[in-house]
Amino acid sequence: MSKEIIELTCIMCPVGCSLTVTKDDNQTTVAGNSCPRGYEYGLKEVTSPERIVTSVLKYRGGTITIKTDRPIPKNMVDKCLKFLSKITLTNKIKTGDVIVKNVLGTSSNIVVTSVNLD
Ligand code: SF4
Repeated sequence: MSKEIIELTCIMCPVGCSLTVTKDDNQTTVAGNSCPRGYEYGLKEVTSPERIVTSVLKYRGGTITIKTDRPIPKNMVDKCLKFLSKITLTNKIKTGDVIVKNVLGTSSNIVVTSVNLD
């Protein structure tokens, strides 16, 4: 039987509990969490980690800040950032607009969080 122990810091709130995730052939368990959110975070982080993507894009001489409206698989983050760096924004944009639907087939949309024009 193989057994793997992974130490993590929970990032779901500022407390930052130290988690110990133990994986063996039959199950994965999480210890050190102070609440259920930490348990779920630890489990997901070692099985299918996800991240919210945030970035800044050029727009009409200024910038916009954007984010995914839900987490995407962690291994898609670099690909997503590369994709976003290549898009051209021509339409009028305001905060809250979705500028890309279902980015890279992840079911996540790219949403504008602020527009900063000089
Ligand atoms: S386990 Fe709960 S209390 Fe601890 S950092 Fe995570 S969310 Fe916060």
